[in-house]
Amino acid sequence: MTRGRRVLLVRYGEVALKGQNRRAFEDALVGSLKERARRAGLDVAVLRSPGRLFLVPPASAPGPGEAEDGRMERLLSVASRVFGVVSLSPAVEAPLEWDAIVEAALQVARPVRARGAPTFKVEARRANKGFPLTSPEIARELGRALASGLDWPVDVARPAATVEVEVREKAYVFAETIPGPGGLPAGTAGRGVLLLSGGIDSPVAGWLVAKRGLQPRAVYFHTPPYTGEKAREKVRTLCRTLAGWLGAIELDSVPFTSVSEAVFRAGPDRLGTVLMRRFMMRVASRIAERVGAEALVTGESLGQVASQTLPSIAAIDEAASLPVLRPLIGLDKSEIVALARRIGTYETSILPHLDCCSVFVPRHPATRPRLADCLRAEARLPVEDLVASCLSGVETELVSA
Ligand code: ATP
Ligand code: MG
Repeated sequence: MTRGRRVLLVRYGEVALKGQNRRAFEDALVGSLKERARRAGLDVAVLRSPGRLFLVPPASAPGPGEAEDGRMERLLSVASRVFGVVSLSPAVEAPLEWDAIVEAALQVARPVRARGAPTFKVEARRANKGFPLTSPEIARELGRALASGLDWPVDVARPAATVEVEVREKAYVFAETIPGPGGLPAGTAGRGVLLLSGGIDSPVAGWLVAKRGLQPRAVYFHTPPYTGEKAREKVRTLCRTLAGWLGAIELDSVPFTSVSEAVFRAGPDRLGTVLMRRFMMRVASRIAERVGAEALVTGESLGQVASQTLPSIAAIDEAASLPVLRPLIGLDKSEIVALARRIGTYETSILPHLDCCSVFVPRHPATRPRLADCLRAEARLPVEDLVASCLSGVETELVSA
């Protein structure tokens, strides 16, 4: 008997609930899975079945071999970081013939048994009502076959392992389910511009909006020579990590030195941070308009620092021409850190490289800055020229995982 083809079963939850948009969401999910696999050197074929996708790795013709295991591992690691994926199971596919299904089940179960699981049960799910056995019958018969074939005791109440089979156009057998990040597929909520500093918060903010389907592009304001190449490299590294979740990400580095110096000179000192944020909003809004993005995204969280009080947020927003999304607004620092660790950005974020705002940080920042005071200070500045000089110096690069 030849070995069954190995495929990766993909479950997607919320996507399936989207009514008439469902097809578009499914297409977006298929698109991101294919694209991300392709970047990892795997040209997968995607089969659709109601509520499921099946990824078929390249050249996964029937047949054993290390190479096939390696490809499946790689595919699993890519697909488990694609938004819209609820969970994944490496499966063996079999035609709808009983002997072939048993053979596939043995192929799946043998290594699980060998790893020492003392007991098991079978769970069956018959999506294809044309198949002659019911789900309980399939489970019982397959359980019998595995119990005798592998000398493996069944324990329906507390099994150490569960072998599952889904009967569709073909049968799919698997013994393992790996969680995905959930959320919505990339780009289904449109595009946004993420203000990405080298800190802990903004990469997490980008990840959270991407999880809800917003495809972010990153904008980083740098202040040479106060901030150096190392700080910029750190932001690139953060983009690389984010790209492991969202696909390749465009990074705009914006020269911000003239703004920081002008703001610093114009004072008053206590408004410095808010004034700089207002310039960032202006520049980011213009970039967003250029690229067709519909929102700005920041890593601000309520009350974390002086520039993150409601009066500051109000003053900052006034300079933006698009909605400003702040997905961290209700999170504690410890919750943000936990997410940063999960995403993989934490270790990079805590590297000690200066960001522009720590160079020009006021000694006594205002916690209740008034918009009128900001406008008065800005009246002494060539606002439009400064914005134009930022925009003309933008350097864009595409960062992949
Ligand atoms: P982070 O950890 O993201 O730097 P933070 O808590 O240090 O956040 P601030 O330094 O007050 O917060 O910055 C607030 C937000 O402004 C950041 O989350 C980020 O979205 C944006 N921001 C700050 N500095 C920069 C920068 N140099 N380039 C791009 N965006 C920035
Ligand atoms: Mg910061």
